Amino acid sequence: MLGTMQEWPLLAHKILDHAAAQHPNRPVVSRSVEGPIHRTTYGAMHLRARKVAQGLEAHGIKLGDRIGTLAWNTWRHMEVWYGLLGLGAIYHTVNPRLFPDQVAWIINDAEDRLLFIDLTFVPLIEGIMDKLPTVEQVIVLTDAEHMPKDTKLRGAVAYEDWIAARDGNFTWHEFPENTAAGMCYTSGTTGNPKGVVYSHRSNVLHAFQAAMPDMLNLSARDTVMPVVPLFHANGWSLAFSAPMTGAALVMPGAKLDGASIHELLETEKVTITAAVPTVWLMLLQHLEKTFGRISTLKRVIIGGAACPRAVTQAFQETYGVEVAHAWGMTEMSPLGTICSPKPETAGLTGDARLDLQQKQGFPPFGVEMKIVDDEDKTLPCDGKIFGRLKVRGPAVAAAYFKGEGASNFDADGWFDTGDVATIDGYGYMQITDRAKDVIKSGGEWISSIDLENLAIGHPDVAEAAVIGIVHPKWDERPLLIVVAKPGRDPSREDILNFMAGKIAKWWMPDDVVFVEGIPHTATGKIQKTTLRDQFKHYRFET
Ligand code: ADP
Repeated sequence: MLGTMQEWPLLAHKILDHAAAQHPNRPVVSRSVEGPIHRTTYGAMHLRARKVAQGLEAHGIKLGDRIGTLAWNTWRHMEVWYGLLGLGAIYHTVNPRLFPDQVAWIINDAEDRLLFIDLTFVPLIEGIMDKLPTVEQVIVLTDAEHMPKDTKLRGAVAYEDWIAARDGNFTWHEFPENTAAGMCYTSGTTGNPKGVVYSHRSNVLHAFQAAMPDMLNLSARDTVMPVVPLFHANGWSLAFSAPMTGAALVMPGAKLDGASIHELLETEKVTITAAVPTVWLMLLQHLEKTFGRISTLKRVIIGGAACPRAVTQAFQETYGVEVAHAWGMTEMSPLGTICSPKPETAGLTGDARLDLQQKQGFPPFGVEMKIVDDEDKTLPCDGKIFGRLKVRGPAVAAAYFKGEGASNFDADGWFDTGDVATIDGYGYMQITDRAKDVIKSGGEWISSIDLENLAIGHPDVAEAAVIGIVHPKWDERPLLIVVAKPGRDPSREDILNFMAGKIAKWWMPDDVVFVEGIPHTATGKIQKTTLRDQFKHYRFET
């Protein structure tokens, strides 16, 4: 027997319909790429998104066509997403921080028909225009006044001119909820990047999951600033979960430095924000230097890489902002877990609370997790034994675009995250390492993440990375690579003494090297592959 309820396909653009109906005047504030602060509302964006859909349709864009965006978080970028969704075309966020050849590779693999790009990325696309045969036209997300002159961009047109001729009188198209909605490539530290294709249904279900109290905890009373770019892992759902709840949005545009982020947090009275740890390290250093305060922010979501304990402590104890440590990946839409309190842990204070917050937390309904050994046998959840983390759920990828990377998916529907983790008796998961970054010393594993997080707690350390160096006796031993804070000059011994006693003796790094800077990936994570390459001839003195 079937239920007697209505068929109402979970289509992602209905989220903007809802925001425009229920929260039409809620502000969407952006730092425009041209400079000035721009203010609009969900109601106004709803109209302009339909103008985008009209423009796309006039161009001949159809169901299933891929359209690339190389853009910062602004109202225009979000309008383009929704215009594409309402037509059944696919937003394909391209990470503009990748090398030009990788950008070209990804656009060609996706066969993008149009590109919507910010002014910032005009030179990048001009440089590879000849290598992009599928791209019919480039629409620059600006107005006529700011359009570059004599550009080599194919069919270049200013976005504001491109939609000006449309009236917005457009009815969204109808199609099944499993229709592809968006696309995002994983950064591909090994081999070529792999495309993840989200569906309307997975984006809508994921937005419900993300908005829940123990996840991002969004409501119509919040003002949310996604510092995490829309091109990083589906923008952590915020372009969907914020309008779904009616939360106001603050979009930081191209300026993600400490001073610019601090300014927006304060002037726009942000209550919730989200980004990778490197962004928060920059903000905290700015606050320390300027004796800045944070007045309205309640909650900062930190994920994409392990959040150092010192960052959590500074936010909570110095600035009175609650930290929510999150874990996820592009393949998971991306949210997997968030470290929120359960009744059993809610009473923790001081160090015990910080210890808990080093964990990445527990999943929402709709994400199943398990850890397994090398024979794929499920391991116990005792918080000590670690194994490969596998996940499944309605917003987890079942395959990559064009069938790449099939070995990551089990026959019984589990996706192998490539992460190594523990799960404790309360269900809190903690990432030990990426399987390929873990340091194998004498048959045991050392977590590079734990060592990095400890080292960064030293007051003179700006950033730290740990890699394994081949060792004649132990296979590998940890090397600690440190960037000192400006004007500070810590010694090797200062740092090792600071770490001693806080970890098992055999985890202690065999040496410390000081460098000017640590390389980052296009999503702001420490680039271990480059570091390993840089130090491939390094040997410990024995
Ligand atoms: P990219 O590598 O392109 O940035 P993802 O954002 O999908 O792609 O990366 C996902 C990976 O990032 C996870 O598999 C995990 O290794 C790492 N990661 C994400 N969040 C955390 C976290 N809170 N702690 C530790 N590692 C994390």
